[in-house]
Amino acid sequence: MRFLPVFLDLASGTVALVGSGGAALDKLRLLRAAGANVRWYSSNADVAEEVLLASSPSGRLEVSFADPLQADYSEFVAVVSAAGAALDEAVSARARARNIPVNVVDQPDLSSFVIPAVVDRGDVVVAIGTGGGSPVLARRVRAWIEALLPARIGELAALLQRYRARFAAVRHTSVSPRRFWERVVDGPIAQALLSGQTHAAEAALRCAIEESALPQRPTENGIVFLVGSGPGDPDLLTLRALQVLQSADVVFYDDLVSETVLDRARRDAKRIFVGKRKGRPGVGQDEINQRMVAAARRGDTVVRLKGGDPFIFGRGGEELDYLRRAKVATVVVPGVTAALGCAAEAGLPLTYRNEATRLTFVTAHRADDATATDWSALVDPQTTVVVYMGLASAQVVRDGLIAAGRPANTPAGVLVRGTRPDAKAVVGALDDLPALAQQAGEGPALLVIGEVVARSDAWRATHSLLAQELAA
Ligand code: SAH
Repeated sequence: MRFLPVFLDLASGTVALVGSGGAALDKLRLLRAAGANVRWYSSNADVAEEVLLASSPSGRLEVSFADPLQADYSEFVAVVSAAGAALDEAVSARARARNIPVNVVDQPDLSSFVIPAVVDRGDVVVAIGTGGGSPVLARRVRAWIEALLPARIGELAALLQRYRARFAAVRHTSVSPRRFWERVVDGPIAQALLSGQTHAAEAALRCAIEESALPQRPTENGIVFLVGSGPGDPDLLTLRALQVLQSADVVFYDDLVSETVLDRARRDAKRIFVGKRKGRPGVGQDEINQRMVAAARRGDTVVRLKGGDPFIFGRGGEELDYLRRAKVATVVVPGVTAALGCAAEAGLPLTYRNEATRLTFVTAHRADDATATDWSALVDPQTTVVVYMGLASAQVVRDGLIAAGRPANTPAGVLVRGTRPDAKAVVGALDDLPALAQQAGEGPALLVIGEVVARSDAWRATHSLLAQELAA
């Protein structure tokens, strides 16, 4: 490491910027966004005027058309130069002679500091350097960190800052400050704040601080996240799902949750399978509920990971009811439901202007669900029907829809193992749905019925093949 990241106090003086080209303007924008007071040595009055006219953020901007080499450097906390070869070198030499930190854009050899790529979340700032060698790589790394860092992390830092003094004032000597703040940052208070429950988080923090005045340790309270893991591809996890997976102590997961999704959980999180596998009785819903509550009461961060979205045919609603009754803090993290993930992958728009104006998700788990379904509500030609858990009931679904009046030649498809490496889509007419289901093979599958199926990639592929065969 040649460059040590340090954070410059911009309130302590003026930053000098030399140059008028694109690189100088980039730096000007960055410095101003950070709230710096900038003395800008510009050689181009037109550009300067344009910048001055544009709405300005905080911090003072002074434009000078004087020679930057004649300036009094003692008032500068840093010098940034992007003026071109000869001037850059002279500016750098002058700054170094006075021990003022200097950065010459894209010239690490002329610089005593480099400007990092910055992730800015208010009080939380991450600096990324690549030794000045590759700004493009630094920007990539920044994008990764941006994606991982909760949007409200800055608010969290500000909240903790506001209550530091209060905690220090009331804390009983038996309460360790480090343990106390660790519990706040790793536990439900921070999680509530990061999920947008600002008032609840602040109230809980105040409570915890008042409790810390007492000799015993504050009671530990965990939290349960009901998390949608999406249809299988781990890249379809939401950023929040990824964040809570990274903080989990224990993960209860279903059979629909793919291995590759589980791999995204914190390495030392306990992983507990609570799904049903073919031929074996699964863990009952009551037991799942009780185990989640027990873990949360031990103080654990619990992730209940469910396929797709927790509130779509996933019993997430029942689990939420139970957790509420048990007074366990619970946060629901939505996921990409199978219909959306599979349709996107299959190039199958679930709605389409003037063609499919209604979208219905139904379940037909067992044949009697399918018989009990009121198919007459789903015969309108502009309705796209997506059937969850319907693979084994394809026949009943077909019979029900056709008997209710949906034409037998309505396009229909089976999307199986969607968004997984072995995903497959088979398409044809509603009349052939049972045969299509058979062709699809094993695995979670959706039945899709509606005109829009004819717009899917699989349909286009088979029908252009058909057209070729007919032409031959
Ligand atoms: N909560 C889940 C649905 C759970 S019900 C969600 O929002 O997606 C289980 C049913 O979802 C399966 O029987 C199947 O119909 C559907 N499903 C889940 N993942 C799927 C996938 N990768 N491909 C196709 N269908 C899937």
